Amino acid sequence: MNFLYCENCGKKSGYKRLFGWGTFFAVIVTCGFWLIALPFYPLRCMTCGNDSYRRESELTDAERNLDRELNKLGEKMRKSRKL
Ligand SMILES: [Zn+2]
Repeated sequence: MNFLYCENCGKKSGYKRLFGWGTFFAVIVTCGFWLIALPFYPLRCMTCGNDSYRRESELTDAERNLDRELNKLGEKMRKSRKL
């Protein structure tokens, strides 16, 4: 799984390729040749299904700071829940 910046969610999110029954049948119909196409499936946001994303290196400084702040906040919340 990849963690990439989702523009729809406005935060970093888990991205992976989604294979459904359509993919499964495509593999059967093509006698397995469809497996070659699987790596070319777009990565999709696991939260919203959006398939556009930006890598961390493409983020602006402001977005990176915001992400850092959100992570810090999340960390604080996790800690306070444990106490
Ligand atoms: Zn998303």
